Amino acid sequence: MSREAIEMNVESVTVEAADTKTIRLTWPEGHNPEFKTGQFITCNWPDEPSYRRAYSLSSCALDRGFYEFTVRRDGKMGTRLVDWIKPTQKLVVLPPAGRFLPVYEPQKHLICMAGGSGVTPFRGFVREATRQKLETKITVLYSVRTPKDIIFNSEFLQLARENPRFTFAVTCTRAQPADQWSGRSGRIDAEWVRQQVGDSAETIFYACGPTPLVEFAEHIVLNDLGVTKAQMKTEKWG
Ligand SMILES: Cc1cc2nc3c(=O)[nH]c(=O)nc-3n(C[C@H](O)[C@H](O)[C@H](O)COP(=O)(O)OP(=O)(O)OC[C@H]3O[C@@H](n4cnc5c(N)ncnc54)[C@H](O)[C@@H]3O)c2cc1C
Repeated sequence: MSREAIEMNVESVTVEAADTKTIRLTWPEGHNPEFKTGQFITCNWPDEPSYRRAYSLSSCALDRGFYEFTVRRDGKMGTRLVDWIKPTQKLVVLPPAGRFLPVYEPQKHLICMAGGSGVTPFRGFVREATRQKLETKITVLYSVRTPKDIIFNSEFLQLARENPRFTFAVTCTRAQPADQWSGRSGRIDAEWVRQQVGDSAETIFYACGPTPLVEFAEHIVLNDLGVTKAQMKTEKWG
C-alpha cells in the first residue's frame, strides 16, 4: 500500500468515557485500502503537518468506508483530539501499519490484556472474529479504575452474547462503594491470567497500551507463567 498521507473528513465523534472519544474518519471517494485488524493509523492536524501520532484502529478490517480510532485525553495530541475535534473537520492520515495482529487459527486462544484505552484494538479483534464466526477463542482481561472508565462496555457485552467463544472480563482498581461494582477488584495478576489458560501451547498473549502496563503484563506472562516470548505480542504506546 502506498504510504501517501490522505486528508479525511471527521464523520462522527462518540464519547466513550469522561476522557475518551471515538473518532470516525470517512475514506475519500474511490479509496478502498487493504489493511488488517489490529493495525494503527498515523494522524496529524492539517495545520500541524510535523506533529504526527499513531492510533490503533478500534474498528476492524471488515468495516469498510471508514476508520475508527479511540483516543484518551493525554499529552498534546490526545488532548487536542479529545477536547477539540468536531465532525466536518479534517485529519491527515497515513495508511494502517503494524504487526499487532490477531492469529485467527481455529485451535488458538487469544488472551488479550489491556488497561484503560489500551483495549481499543481488541474491539477490532473481537468484532472480526464474531462477524466471521471464527473458531478462535478470545478472552479480554480489562483493567480500569472504576466502572465509569470501561469503554465499549455495551458492545463487548453484546459481542459476548453473540459469540460463545469470547469472554469479556473486567477488573476495577479503584471502585468506590458508590459505584456498586460487584465484579473483580484489583490489578490484572498472574493468578487471574493463569485461570484463563487452557492449553498453554495454543495460547497467544496480547498486551496493549501505555508502556508500564504492557511491561507489567509481559512480566506476568514471561516470568510468572513461564511462557516463551514467541507466544506474546505487544503494542507499546510509550
Ligand atoms: C502504535 C501506537 C498506537 C497507539 N494507539 C493509541 C490509541 O488507540 N489511543 C490513544 O489514546 N493513544 C494511542 N497511542 C498514543 C498516542 O500516539 C499519543 O502518544 C498520545 O495520544 C499522547 O499524545 P502526544 O504524544 O502528543 O503526547 P505528548 O504531549 O508527546 O506527551 C506524551 C506523554 O508524556 C506526558 N507528558 C506530556 N507533557 C508532559 C509534561 N510536561 N510533564 C510530564 N508528562 C508529560 C503525557 O501525559 C503523555 O503521556 C498509540 C501509540 C502508538 C505508538
